[in-house]
Amino acid sequence: MDDGTELCTACGFCCDGTLVDVVRLDEAEVATMTRLGLPVARAGALRLLEQPCAALAGTRCRVYGDRPARCAAFRCRLLAELEAGAVTREEALAVVAHARSLEGEARADVLEARFRRA
Ligand code: SF4
Ligand code: SF4
Repeated sequence: MDDGTELCTACGFCCDGTLVDVVRLDEAEVATMTRLGLPVARAGALRLLEQPCAALAGTRCRVYGDRPARCAAFRCRLLAELEAGAVTREEALAVVAHARSLEGEARADVLEARFRRA
């Protein structure tokens, strides 16, 4: 099974604010993110990484091996399709490149159709 690493490190739509606004952290992750120099936001009792994420370098996560559990667990529709074998890696990478080439409503339509989950 394709683990999606190549796709995700070429994408970053769930790290740059395109699909997600914040990532919730548990207490251990707050300590890890702080040690790594990343800003941790507060919203009441919640501790959050705000997006665009400060760990994002281009389309890659700089702290991939230490990324929060919710980042590691996140599956957009396209990644789920790749893992299920419903699309090839090349097809999935082409979807990301196509989405990046678009703006405005056209881009929003592709994001809705190929990345967001019901
Ligand atoms: S999970 Fe989806 S949106 Fe996030 S980086 Fe991977 S392909 Fe892109
Ligand atoms: S920590 Fe890494 S995987 Fe998580 S949102 Fe930030 S850049 Fe993305």
